[in-house]
Amino acid sequence: MTIGNDGWGRTGAPASVIDRLLKKGTFGSAFAGSNPRPDYAHGALSFSTEMLAESSNQVDLSTNKDVLGIPRPRFAFNIGTYVEKALEHGLKASTELFGVMARKISPLAKPLHNQDTGRMNWNTAAHIMGTCIMGDDPKDSVVDRWGRTHDVPNLWIVGSSVFPTSATSNPTVTLAALALRTAAAIDREM
Ligand SMILES: Cc1cc2nc3c(=O)[nH]c(=O)nc-3n(C[C@H](O)[C@H](O)[C@H](O)COP(=O)(O)OP(=O)(O)OC[C@H]3O[C@@H](n4cnc5c(N)ncnc54)[C@H](O)[C@@H]3O)c2cc1C
Repeated sequence: MTIGNDGWGRTGAPASVIDRLLKKGTFGSAFAGSNPRPDYAHGALSFSTEMLAESSNQVDLSTNKDVLGIPRPRFAFNIGTYVEKALEHGLKASTELFGVMARKISPLAKPLHNQDTGRMNWNTAAHIMGTCIMGDDPKDSVVDRWGRTHDVPNLWIVGSSVFPTSATSNPTVTLAALALRTAAAIDREM
């Protein structure tokens, strides 16, 4: 659980949040002095959860190509039941906490499920991970346990793209540790 003072600031990508603020003229003294305060300056509780490794979550090549003729990535992604249940629990906990504080959840809050699709409304924290995942079996992974690609012996990949699963918290310290570990493996090989 995270307690923040950025209100609805996390309900979109950084660029789209700034775009919304600029379009409403909410910047400079208007941001600090507006009454009621802008959506982005309220207290917020947010809940994050780890994701399980779902084999159906994949990235491959699209038939669509970019201007250079390189195929665009095609993603199949679903948060899965485990995450949905965790987020449902988070909403229940935050509703109770707001109740204890005698505060109401803002009417700006999206309903838990999209009324048209029935799917859960959720946001991401932009932690870029996966797509070149680490594993022993070339059938379901891209790099081995040392970060070396199964297909190309002199190609090594470092960074959060090799994570096979993702924890709840931020990835950078772990990816830095993995990069150092892979550097030592390359050194040994050389
Ligand atoms: C808004 C935001 C906030 C974040 N906040 C945090 C935080 O507080 N704490 C935290 O731990 N993590 C945070 N993250 C996540 C973290 O930044 C990423 O997980 C991390 O940067 C991933 O590192 P990487 O080296 O794997 O990939 P990247 O940092 O994405 O590096 C990949 C590099 O490859 C280059 N590249 C791509 N394609 C090509 C190509 N074809 N040829 C040559 N180069 C190419 C890209 O230009 C880029 O420089 C945040 C991410 C975002 C977007």
